[in-house]
Amino acid sequence: MAVKLKIKDREKVEKISEILKSKNSFIITSHVNIDGDAIGSEIALFIALKKIGKKVEIINQDKIPSIFKFLPYSRAIKVFRKKIEINNFEVGIVIDCGSLDRTGKIKELIKNLPFIINIDHHLTNSEFGDINWGNPSFSSSGEMIYFICKKLTKINRNQAICLYTSILYDTCCFVHHLSDYTLDVIKDLISKKIEPEKIAQKIFYEKSIKSVNLFKFALETLKFDKKICSMKITKEMFKKVHAKEEHTEGFVEFLISIKGVEVGILFKEKENGVKVSMRSKGNIDVENMAKKFGGGGHREAAGCFFENREIEEVEHLIMKELK
Ligand code: AMP
Ligand code: MN
Ligand code: MN
Repeated sequence: MAVKLKIKDREKVEKISEILKSKNSFIITSHVNIDGDAIGSEIALFIALKKIGKKVEIINQDKIPSIFKFLPYSRAIKVFRKKIEINNFEVGIVIDCGSLDRTGKIKELIKNLPFIINIDHHLTNSEFGDINWGNPSFSSSGEMIYFICKKLTKINRNQAICLYTSILYDTCCFVHHLSDYTLDVIKDLISKKIEPEKIAQKIFYEKSIKSVNLFKFALETLKFDKKICSMKITKEMFKKVHAKEEHTEGFVEFLISIKGVEVGILFKEKENGVKVSMRSKGNIDVENMAKKFGGGGHREAAGCFFENREIEEVEHLIMKELK
């Protein structure tokens, strides 16, 4: 049985699909520090557009984290370079980004394309683009892309693998943010003979030794403050174990897995500032918190970035605001 969308969403899917059919060349992109939802969505749509004979490229600011390299066509994804030439493309499709700024360096590349499509499920979306479909009730952008892909062509196994990855990742293994459609969409994806256990293992059960070593250092900084649990990763720690941002995958989720903890916060020192990742069991709205500092996300998962600030200063600011 086909999953039936609510009328407003159905209209958006129809409009966007018409544009995708009528134009010929597309750049697909997503946010900085690309994640499972964004990558899965990009590739599934890339395959759909290829299937209907379009010229299409995926370009992101950051490299694909190793854990997602098992995805079909992951090698087709390009990473930002100053000399990339995209002037002859007609449409930019921005997925899983609350604002165009979230695409990082890609913004400069695509902002002058003749037409921009914005598809996103974050709570706050600046409604940029010539057409935007934003709805925070969807579990993931992948769930939205599922309906677009389905409208364009029959969904194949490779697309199902990507879309399953998106939904699995953004719901934290079906723990939160399930929509009215999620389970029906998943049922349809599983019917394409994907191997759900294998996908989950690739993403969640193949932690590298670098990641484990980094976690050991991070655990030493663990702090409890009533229902808040926080942890820090400094540049020095990254350096000591030769780890990168992608090796912090799952750390903040660990904080929220502790009994009695309502909010988990991870502070990460980067070259040009401090990245804050927040997770909540749902009683405290972390998106609201992130928004105060120019970030965003969802009620249960949000983030923000402090440019050129010290990690202790950022920790102080966030903890003060949370109390
Ligand atoms: P993260 O902590 O990076 O895993 O992000 C959690 C959620 O917050 C994701 O939905 C991100 O897209 C969103 N998010 C993280 N950082 C920012 C930011 N600086 N601005 C807007 N949204 C963000
Ligand atoms: Mn995302
Ligand atoms: Mn998402």
